[in-house]
Parts: sequence; C-alpha cells; structure tokens
Amino acid sequence: MSQKIIRLSEEVINQIAAGEVVENPASVVKEMVENSLDAGASRIDIWIEGGGVDLIRIEDDGCGMGKEDALLSLERHATSKIKTESDLQELCTLGFRGEALAAISAVSCLELKTSDGKEGTHIKVEGGKVLSITPCARNKGTSIYVRSLFFNVPARKKFMKSVAVLRAQVIRTVETIVLAHSTVRFSLYADENLILEVFAEEKKRRIEAILGTMPHIVQGDGIFGLLGAPEEAKLNRRGQYLFINQRPIVSPLIAKAVKAGFGTRIAEDAYPSFALFLTVPPEEVDVNVHPQKREVRFLDDGKMFRFCEKMVAKAFDQNTVFASSPFALQEETVPYQMPFMPQAMIPSFAEETFLPLPKMEKPLAIIEGCLLLLQEELIIVDLALAHARVLAKSLKDKVQMQTLLWPLEAIVEEEEIVEELQEAGIDCRWIGKKTIAVDALPAFLDASDFPAFLQSWREERRIDGAAFRYAKAVKKRFSLDEALFLWQELQKCSENSVDFSGKNIWTVVSGKAVKRLLEGV
Ligand code: ADP
Ligand code: MG
Repeated sequence: MSQKIIRLSEEVINQIAAGEVVENPASVVKEMVENSLDAGASRIDIWIEGGGVDLIRIEDDGCGMGKEDALLSLERHATSKIKTESDLQELCTLGFRGEALAAISAVSCLELKTSDGKEGTHIKVEGGKVLSITPCARNKGTSIYVRSLFFNVPARKKFMKSVAVLRAQVIRTVETIVLAHSTVRFSLYADENLILEVFAEEKKRRIEAILGTMPHIVQGDGIFGLLGAPEEAKLNRRGQYLFINQRPIVSPLIAKAVKAGFGTRIAEDAYPSFALFLTVPPEEVDVNVHPQKREVRFLDDGKMFRFCEKMVAKAFDQNTVFASSPFALQEETVPYQMPFMPQAMIPSFAEETFLPLPKMEKPLAIIEGCLLLLQEELIIVDLALAHARVLAKSLKDKVQMQTLLWPLEAIVEEEEIVEELQEAGIDCRWIGKKTIAVDALPAFLDASDFPAFLQSWREERRIDGAAFRYAKAVKKRFSLDEALFLWQELQKCSENSVDFSGKNIWTVVSGKAVKRLLEGV
C-alpha cells in the first residue's frame, strides 16, 4: 500500500458521516419527522415502502423553506437552530447539528419540495450531488422523498435487516414520537396500508391511542404519565416509554424507580408498562445529545430515583378504591391481593412446617478453582463448569436478568451476532454503527466480563458452548459465599452433574475414599 496521503472528497466525507446519523430507515424517519416538528408542523404524514429502503416520504405543514435555505439545508453543518455556542445551552429544538439532511441525501436519491408560503422550490439530489433546482407550486410546508436508501453503499445495504424488521422499526420509531406530541396530527402508511392515524388530542388520549388502556395516572410537578396494570407487566421492556423534555430516552435508573414504585404489586422479574414524561430543568440533566444515543445523566440520580418512585407509588394510592371511598373501613378488611406474585413467593405459613429442612452444607475452601463442600460427605465442585451451566440456564430461561444502572457499550462488527444475543436473552440494542448498548445481563454474567462473553459467543454461537468457553476464559474468582450460592443454583438445573461435553461438574468423595487415600491403597 502506498503511503501517499490524499484528501477525501466531500462526497466520501459525507458518506462516512452519514453512517453516524443514518443507521437504518427508522433513523431517517426519526430525523425527518423531528425536523418537521422543529418546523412547527401541526400535521405530519409519513409513507414508507419496502421497509423504508425503497421509499420514505414525509410531508408537513411547517414553516417550510425559501430557495436559499432549501439549498443550504442539504449541506453539512447547516442549521437554522443554533448560531452560537451559548445557544447550545438553551436548546429547545430536537435537531441542531445540521447533519441529518446532508447525511440522508449522501446515501439516497432525495427530493425536496418546500415552500415558505412565498416561493416553492423543488430540489433533486442523488448520492449527495444536486441534480436540479426548479421552482414548484406548494403550500407552506415541506415534502421530502427519500428513495433507494444506501443505493451507493452496497456493504450497508447487504447488512440491512428484512423488510418486515425494518418496517417494525419504523413503526416503533413513529409511535414513540407520536406519543410525545399529542397536539400534532400524524398518519403513517406502510406499503399503502394505513398503520396509524391520530388527530390532535390531549395527552392521556394520545397515549392510550398508541399503547392501549392504561389504568393508573402519574401526575405532579414536572411529571406526567400512565402506568399499565401490574398484572399486565411484560417479560421485557417493550412496553416502557420514557421522555425527558419531550425526547425519547432510555434510562435504566428511571425504569428501576418506576418498578420500585410498583412495589410488591409486580413480580420480581416483570417489567411494568409505562409512558412517562418528565420535565427536568436543563441544568439538572445532561441529555447526551448524540443523534443515536438516548441516554441521559442526571445531576442527582438519587433525587430523580426517589421522585419517580414516590410519584408512581402515589398513582396507585390515588387509584385504590379505599383511599377516597366512604366505605374505606369495610373495604380494608378485604385482604390485599398481590396480583402478580409468583406462587412460590406468597408466604404460606400452614405449609412451612412441612418444608424439608435444607441439607447441612458447609463450604470449606476453594482450591484450584474447585469448591470443597461438606455435606455428609465431601463434595468437590468445579466452579468454572458450574458457572457455565448456571449461566446457560439463566440465559435459556431468560431469568435473573439484572438491569445495569448504566448501559454497557460494546463494539460488535456483525449484525447477526446482536440478533443472536437478543434471542439468547441479553437485553441489548444498536446505538450506533457497530456499537451496542447492553441494558441488562443475567446474574452470573458480570458487566466487566461482557467483552469476554461476546468473544466466546462469536466463537461458539450457541448458549451452552458460549457459556462454557466464557466461564473457562474468565475463571471467575468466587468468594466462599458466592461459590456456595452457585452450588445451590446448580441444583436447580435439570442436568447438573455433567457438563455438555460429558465432564463431571462435581463429584463426591466418600469417607471410605478419604481413608483409602490415607492408607495409600
Ligand atoms: P438540524 O435539524 O440539526 O438543524 P438537519 O440536517 O436535520 O439539521 O436540517 C437542516 C436544516 O434544514 C434545519 O436546521 C432546518 O432549518 C431545515 N429543515 C429541515 N427539514 C425541514 C422541514 N421539514 N421544514 C422546515 N425546515 C426544515
Ligand atoms: Mg434535524
């Protein structure tokens, strides 16, 4: 390879930058709809074809653009939303980087028809090159057509997901935006089928139009939201929508606080459904305003947590019949039912005396990665093999997921690996080109060891193999207590004596065998 340095053409630079903003059709839709909202639109109509790869068309009745602005809007770092650094502090628009339209037009065939109410302009762009600029008739507002997305980035196109998945991503993106802007009228068509149509309405009705009935209302200074019924909690977070200052945000901290507010109404491993809108003074929150990142940092995590927990808990108090009912005393004599408690967690005093007493188990020491345990006889447990088996079980059963306080970021080159991880129960999502955020991990997979797990997955591509390779690679140093807990968890696995390659996970050394050892026979 020759060492000569060349300056990249503007076209190539824009294509590279496009990767940051334009990840898939859903991200194009998000950027364009946010532009329409920033333009003050009261009506936004969206059409997609072929999951958005063939066509994305968005029309709005916003402020539109004159000819000069229309041309500028397609250039990188051209924005009408900030002028100086200090404007950044007082940002109230969704966009501000001036990158989206340039990026989208760099990787598609884009047509822009816009009018500021005085002049109408029609611009055609292909792969970032302006082909024509002509006057056109249009009412005030903007129409943008994006065709053949990634036509000039074959590598990206090859890795696109199926049309059905892309369409689902667009629908989810639109639904999320629609939730947050109840005064705007929206419609979405996919391949000419009407997917969604809503008219300006009050917030509660908008949320229920998108997410269905939600019986509990959270209301207070700086907070508004609806909560799903505890018994309808899900096993994943798909029913959770959080907005901070109108932006859709992912915050494990708030998700945990909401769950804490549900208290014992909800099972340990269930995720409550909610749509929650927080209004937080800009100085108390850092909305990490990278286009793809939806994380936030709060000035005071504890304060936010307690506030959300309290307000959610209050929503239930307000809704319970006894709180305001004149029949309170009579009603209160009805025992409170915990709707979603798994049977095993409901204390049953009558049965307790029949429960078998736990076997006496005394952890003695850990030697060479093995736990020595006294339980009538001596048991030797290979901790790495036990670790692999227990981890594999929690992945297969999708249980014992622990929400990480801060999502973990990891680089993943291969798209299909992320899908496999998701299928294997790892709660992760794309947040950028080749970058994923992991929101929750099973109990026996440490966040700090996730890169090792990822590597093991790459090599094995299935749960048993990956768990085995991972446990062997990290050789986790367990404390005696942890080792004992692992042993107890191992007992819960249906096959717990040999690992999948046929090796013993644990063995018993009888008193006789010890004696024979001493006698040397
Ligand atoms: P940003 O939103 O970060 O400013 P974009 O590349 O998304 O950057 O848009 C560039 C500019 O184009 C915006 O600042 C805005 O002035 C203009 N623009 C884009 N879409 C619209 C629209 N639908 N209506 C009116 N103006 C728009
Ligand atoms: Mg924008």
